[in-house]
Amino acid sequence: MSYLQVAVPLPLYSLYTYKSTSIIKIGCRVKVEFKWQHLIGVVITCSEENPTDYPEDKIKTIDQIIDLEPYLNETTIDLIKFTAQYQHSPIGMIVDLSQPILIRKGMEASRKPIFAYKLLDNSYKTKGGIQNKILDLLKNQIISLSEFKGLKLSSASLNALENKKVIEKFDLNECDLDPFKDLSFENKLSLNDEQQQALDQINATDQFKVFLIEGVTGSGKTEVYMQAIEKVLKRKQQVLVMIPEIGLTPQTIERFHKHFNVPIAAMHSSLSDRERLDNYLACRDGKIAILIGTRSSVFTPFKSLGMIVIDEEHDSSYKQQDTCRYNAKNIAIYKAKLANCPIILGSATPSLESFYNAKIGKYTLLQLHNRAFVNHGNVTKEIIDLRNARLNAGLSERLLNTMELELQKGNQVLIFLNRRGYSNRFICNNCGYVLKCIYCDSFLTYHKFKNNLNCHHCETSYAIPHTCPKCNASDFSISGNGTEQIEEFLINRFPQYPLVRIDRDTTTKQEQLNAYLEDIQNNKYRILIGTQILSKGHHFPNVTLVALVNVDQFLFSNDFRATEQLAQLYTQVAGRTGREEKDGKVVVQSFVPNNHILQTIIARGYENFVNYCLEERKYLNLPPYSFQALIRVASTDQMLMNQTAATIFNLLISLKGNLEISIDNPKPALMEKKQNKFHILIMIQSSTRKILGSFLNNVMRELNKLKLNTKVEYYIDIDPTEVLQ
Ligand code: ADP
Ligand code: ZN
Repeated sequence: MSYLQVAVPLPLYSLYTYKSTSIIKIGCRVKVEFKWQHLIGVVITCSEENPTDYPEDKIKTIDQIIDLEPYLNETTIDLIKFTAQYQHSPIGMIVDLSQPILIRKGMEASRKPIFAYKLLDNSYKTKGGIQNKILDLLKNQIISLSEFKGLKLSSASLNALENKKVIEKFDLNECDLDPFKDLSFENKLSLNDEQQQALDQINATDQFKVFLIEGVTGSGKTEVYMQAIEKVLKRKQQVLVMIPEIGLTPQTIERFHKHFNVPIAAMHSSLSDRERLDNYLACRDGKIAILIGTRSSVFTPFKSLGMIVIDEEHDSSYKQQDTCRYNAKNIAIYKAKLANCPIILGSATPSLESFYNAKIGKYTLLQLHNRAFVNHGNVTKEIIDLRNARLNAGLSERLLNTMELELQKGNQVLIFLNRRGYSNRFICNNCGYVLKCIYCDSFLTYHKFKNNLNCHHCETSYAIPHTCPKCNASDFSISGNGTEQIEEFLINRFPQYPLVRIDRDTTTKQEQLNAYLEDIQNNKYRILIGTQILSKGHHFPNVTLVALVNVDQFLFSNDFRATEQLAQLYTQVAGRTGREEKDGKVVVQSFVPNNHILQTIIARGYENFVNYCLEERKYLNLPPYSFQALIRVASTDQMLMNQTAATIFNLLISLKGNLEISIDNPKPALMEKKQNKFHILIMIQSSTRKILGSFLNNVMRELNKLKLNTKVEYYIDIDPTEVLQ
């Protein structure tokens, strides 16, 4: 008889013990009965003796074995255990969220054919643009069908070439192909001194070490990653490259393909379930040399991992913000530790936490101060004083004049604003009532194009009311400018210049965004209005003016991270200009042009801002100088929520004893009601992570014993990044 401890996919903190007549290896899936449900769990331990004091006859036998051989390797199980422990999250939930959906459903863990193409006839000539692109890509390498799909090259052209026997389709699984066999490196640039120094330091080790590359946009970070990766591939080891957004995958894949002829796969949420599983298994079995993926790719198993790169490491998307708030960056660092390989974090604007870790010697800081390409323009900066300025849709005359100058020269301008819709307040003129969402504590945004009011928190839309719900008057006004209003105004002001607005209302699909981006590159549009979507990663050689029109909200926020976010946003957006020969200009509009933080960011640069901000955090004993955990309590029943929060708070206080820990009174979230649920937060803080960690272990153990009302949810958020919500 063997005894198995199994992680079941439920929000439960413990493993559950089952027995089986056969020995089952760790990392296999089994079907088990749990409280009258039949679930698929993963074997985490297996022993010949009962590991618990649970009576022998009460231990159930498993229903069924799913895998004869483990589909999960030991390092991945260690990573899952680490994540559960670090986040104080139920291990079953981490197992669940870290696996491809088909695995969770019990599908056999074997690969479907991975079709790939190779070139048979390299003398073939064609006029077809897409066919030529395909042939070009296949010149020195094999490329899988899924990569072609990722590159948006049509399968009709592939089929045509295959029918003509110019290329051949085959199954990568069938041939026992060494992914590193034909390794060669194309288009390698000779590095400048700073890049070379950075590369030398990275190349000096093949063991666990964390590098932080700080390099302005265009300083050649990616070139450094690629040359560091080259060395890893030569050792026949695999590489994980993490990027913040799915949208950046095609361009990243393309760039890596131009450099390396090894199998590259993508891992992100827009793949089909089958593709995810196939890539997952191919990576586990060492069939893929480079995996390019978003947050969740950190859980993909590797046969022989030799390096991890996290690009745009400051990006908030590495932290998952729903029930299990894991941080993929921390997990990636632990993954590198388990694999004993180097990890590179890179950004133009590293997070304060990472900078701090570099200062105290935990990370090795590598800086690239200059733009890499020889021809690049100068960038000038200006703060426009909005006091006493006449505003049109929130744009000052001075900004409009500057725009006109650039447009007349044939250049493009980018207007950045983090607020979509027409205006963010819809107000009754008689009683002053501002229309609110019935499910959330939030004001409704007026969308002129859709002619409705919209809640940006639960996405409920409302018809425009004829009468005020409070006083029955029928006269309304609006206030606050969104992207729609700016668009409307600029179309009237500059009718001769084609304009595009890129936000979640105009651009819901990735293909749409790609099409817009291509049109921007081709100068089809001259005025670009965009939200966050346009701040990341894209290259706009003709943009010579970037304007951030509304930054004051960041300066007056109660969130201590708001100024860091502003500094990152400003630096990233500013990096969109002056990238080629043309000079660039960055303009910020503000009602507080002399604000010290704003001045520091703009006049003295990101690193000076970071040093200033770290001093401030130190003085206030905020992260990274202390460690935080937030207990979030939520329910549709506000009273029940308050009672539960009080119970949890009392428990915390009684467990605290004289530990060096501070516990804040429960505080309603800034938006207390969201999607019809109320939210309250309890902040716990300590100057050492160890004390906080062991305290939280106690807390979770005792909380589980309390049997709290199931109408209330609670969970812990470790190192919270949204501390008010
Ligand atoms: P980052 O990732 O820091 O934004 P990239 O690696 O994308 O920077 O480099 C920006 C541009 O500079 C790219 O077009 C790249 O090809 C070019 N580049 C990078 N390194 C060099 C170099 N050593 N010599 C010439 N051009 C370079
Ligand atoms: Zn709402």
